Amino acid sequence: MSHGKQKQHVVGVDLGGTKILSAVFDGNLRVLSREKKNTRPELGVEGVIERVAECVNEALASAAVPHTAIAAIGVGVPGMVDQARGLVRIAPNLGWHDLPLVKLLERRLHFPAALINDVQAGTLAVKHQGAGRKLQNFVCMFIGTGIGGGIVLNGELYRGSSGMSGEIGHMVVVPEDGPKCGCGNCGCLESVASRGAIVRRVVTAMEKGRKSVVWDLCDGDTKRVRSRILAEAYREGDKLVCKIIDDACNYIGIGAANLINVLNPQAVILGGGLMQALGDKLLSRIRKSAMAHVIGASPERVRIVDSGLGDDAGIIGAALAARAMVEARRR
Ligand SMILES: [Zn+2]
Repeated sequence: MSHGKQKQHVVGVDLGGTKILSAVFDGNLRVLSREKKNTRPELGVEGVIERVAECVNEALASAAVPHTAIAAIGVGVPGMVDQARGLVRIAPNLGWHDLPLVKLLERRLHFPAALINDVQAGTLAVKHQGAGRKLQNFVCMFIGTGIGGGIVLNGELYRGSSGMSGEIGHMVVVPEDGPKCGCGNCGCLESVASRGAIVRRVVTAMEKGRKSVVWDLCDGDTKRVRSRILAEAYREGDKLVCKIIDDACNYIGIGAANLINVLNPQAVILGGGLMQALGDKLLSRIRKSAMAHVIGASPERVRIVDSGLGDDAGIIGAALAARAMVEARRR
């Protein structure tokens, strides 16, 4: 086949428990258009697949790219995936078990589909287009509903002996009487420093009578508290939010220090909505905390930086997975 006739565009989808992001990419992996929808897992498998399809079709329409120009779609999923068999093994936030997602997507959208774990997708994106571009050894920490991590060693994603590496959200940072974590243990980094944990702590304190501007910012509906509202409260100097976020930064710094001590990476790279919203304010605090816990700490040894990709990390990584599958099939 001549190169000119090959389909060049791919679609990347970041399928989260709360929202679906989709984007159309050109042959140079530049974003041509983006769309966003709520996932609504309560609609069940068929309902969610329909929403993914709508989100993709709307992105294609706004980029004015026809279906026939798409070589493949990549989908990042928050859970364990079996890439070779196109299965979602387990995705707790979506309530999915051994779901043949590739088959279902291909039937609905009529392009080849590739699956990838969402955190691995984000890490690949950081390596190709973000702050990890020129690095061989780094660790990503994505701070969202939970905290996910990706480890790149010698230029390759380190998957561990059974594909379960990178659970940095479950490093224990509060050894005694720490809060219960979603994994069943107590005192994990995720239980004190994820956006989810920060929201829970703020809401619990407000319910006990603590004053906070968050109450006004969310119009009394605490389910609406997301990164944007936390960032606004933090910038306004809200005492409650500042205390809880600063605590979270200290814990993230301890987590980063542990990773630096063990792996000696060129950088620890932070991503996720809260980092995007508060950027440098949090980074300096996290660095300070890490510096206090790293052996032989120096600014070169403790390089903690923003991913530079914000919310796009997931869709870019999914697009990379789609492109890798297309290239493998052409070989
Ligand atoms: Zn945990």
